[in-house]
Amino acid sequence: MKFFCRNKRFYKGNLHTHTRLSDGRKTPDEAVALYKAHGYDFIAITDHRKRFPGCETSDFIVLSGGEYHYQPGLTAYHILGIDLKDDVITDDSTEPQEIIDRVIAAGGFPILAHPSWSLMTPDEALALHGYEAVEIYNGISAAYANRGVSDQFIDICATRDRITGIIADDDAHFYDYDFCRGFIMVQPEAFTTEAIMKAIRERKYYASTGPKMFQLERDDASVIKVDCEEVEEIYFMSNTWFTSTRTVRKPEGGTLTHAEYTPAARDKWVRVEGKAKDGTRFWSNIIEL
Ligand SMILES: [Zn+2]
Ligand SMILES: [Zn+2]
Repeated sequence: MKFFCRNKRFYKGNLHTHTRLSDGRKTPDEAVALYKAHGYDFIAITDHRKRFPGCETSDFIVLSGGEYHYQPGLTAYHILGIDLKDDVITDDSTEPQEIIDRVIAAGGFPILAHPSWSLMTPDEALALHGYEAVEIYNGISAAYANRGVSDQFIDICATRDRITGIIADDDAHFYDYDFCRGFIMVQPEAFTTEAIMKAIRERKYYASTGPKMFQLERDDASVIKVDCEEVEEIYFMSNTWFTSTRTVRKPEGGTLTHAEYTPAARDKWVRVEGKAKDGTRFWSNIIEL
């Protein structure tokens, strides 16, 4: 099975953006202009506890969204609702499961935001249900808190059968370093809100902070194959903690744009990650075996 279509274009998007409507430093129009100028095709505007209605033009799409919080103790639960058809009303006392349920009731796609930054434990996430994706990369957490990557969190959850979508985004507030960092590359059937959301729900995308993926495949013998832009290393992450074939390195004097992995006997899932020379990465979604 091939996960991407060779002759279909990818659309670039950032699903986590704050504007002056909450604590961001740009207006929605300025945010759109900035992302458009940087080659993005869509963003979601996700102000704090405030739904932004989406809008669509022929060359740029703004997805409706909001971010909702519960943070009474050691852990901060931040949940994005994307493609909301109705307002999601919450306050400080609205517990995370209730937030997720209300996002779903409003027609939205719930994403667990920056678990690593928030010091969320996998057990806390596993106690919740209904969220459809997790941020593996959150730009503002990477830029200012050195805790932007939640890869281990996602792997621990997946190993406990919690398979979700994997998102990279900015959480842009438009300070100096928190925008145009993390993004997803989506392959929708058409350039419409509906088609983009369908592709996100069906996980027809990959996440990245730089390098492009071209193809991801699981062949008839279950060998996982990836084609990508040139990177230094490719990793095949899975639930088997020890395997000697996880890391593929660029050969001395050569290039690395393709790698293959034969799953270990105990592997129940595999996800692929690549690291470019400048430290940026791509992350595939999880392939269930
Ligand atoms: Zn947040
Ligand atoms: Zn945020």
